Amino acid sequence: MRTSLILTAMATSINLLITLPAIASVSGKLPAQLQLTRIATDKWRADYRFSEAISRFSMPAAGDYRSTAWKPLTSGVHYQAEPSAQPDQPMDSYILAQPTRQLSFEITSYNDFAPKNYAPNNRYSNGGAGIYMGFFDGDVQEGDKTRGMNLTVNYQGLPGETVIPPPSFADAERSLRAYAYFGPQKPVLAGAAKLVLDPATPEWLARLILDTTSTMSAYFSSTYQRPLLRELVLMISVTDTSTAGFSMKGGATNGQITFRLSGKAMLNEHPAIQQLVQKLVAHEMAHIWQENVSQGGIGEASAWIHEGGAEAMAVDALQKTGTWTVTEVSNYQQTAIANCKKVAAQADNYQYAYACGLQKFMALNTDIPLLWRKLITETERTGRTYDESMFNDVSKHLHRS
Ligand SMILES: [Zn+2]
Repeated sequence: MRTSLILTAMATSINLLITLPAIASVSGKLPAQLQLTRIATDKWRADYRFSEAISRFSMPAAGDYRSTAWKPLTSGVHYQAEPSAQPDQPMDSYILAQPTRQLSFEITSYNDFAPKNYAPNNRYSNGGAGIYMGFFDGDVQEGDKTRGMNLTVNYQGLPGETVIPPPSFADAERSLRAYAYFGPQKPVLAGAAKLVLDPATPEWLARLILDTTSTMSAYFSSTYQRPLLRELVLMISVTDTSTAGFSMKGGATNGQITFRLSGKAMLNEHPAIQQLVQKLVAHEMAHIWQENVSQGGIGEASAWIHEGGAEAMAVDALQKTGTWTVTEVSNYQQTAIANCKKVAAQADNYQYAYACGLQKFMALNTDIPLLWRKLITETERTGRTYDESMFNDVSKHLHRS
């Protein structure tokens, strides 16, 4: 998404599009525990304990993250990159010479992005780090059976440091698809949210993020009339302030919002950056409320519903709180309409879900919070994820009543 010549931004909620490969689960999931200990500023130790001896541990590959940053500590283990039955999803496998119930790794911090996936580590300027826990989950092999794990994790930081585990869900696998924070910072309260903000964030931008988070979380709490089921934590790290432009990468992941900021344009107050930050915070916060349910929520079908819906909820919130003027809202909507025209024939285009999705919600000409309260109630009641038939049913009823 290019918002002006100097700005690039990417708001991704790619967790929603990426799922672990479905590998035939023969006899339920194997209970397993992981102790993740930070042993130095740039090092963690991961100690797995499986309830039965395993001969192979496989995880969907995440670029070269494991081949470069994970070192097996258990003897007789060898790493193997391998293709899997699913196209485009190679696997990282650890093959054990002898079946064992314990497997340990030393993990060094990793700065790159894994292609089309989460950043494995989000590093803070003061030594803090967010670790993406989804990359610790995988499948185990016992003899010729392969099955998933039911993995529970204990976290241990360096002496005296703050550890914030990922939000907890009934589904253990889902609880892993978020970041754990290790570092010296104590989170600050911002409305209904907790904020871990890199101290390297320029002051004007820090104030903007804090204000926007407070305003938006207060608005969403009162408007959507549902207390949050899980503590909302925003983790904002500054990768660099030296490269050209400004980028804000990250998004909402299972009850958590993570952003990684970079670029020297953020050093100076700039209206375009301000607007971008306000919109991204509001948009990601909308996903948190879409997912604030004990069942159902965002699924893989019809991304325009949750993405266009989050755009509509964000625009509503920005307007109603006076964060944006009526003109700013209208300009944003006009840009979306123009963008939608360009990609209208490509429902799989990244822009389609946002721009055309927003347009579809606008076309209903209805009260967005009322519509979304009903969609949230419906997903919670039925356990079905948001999809077009739910959207059609709910919007039909809304017009009838
Ligand atoms: Zn989104």
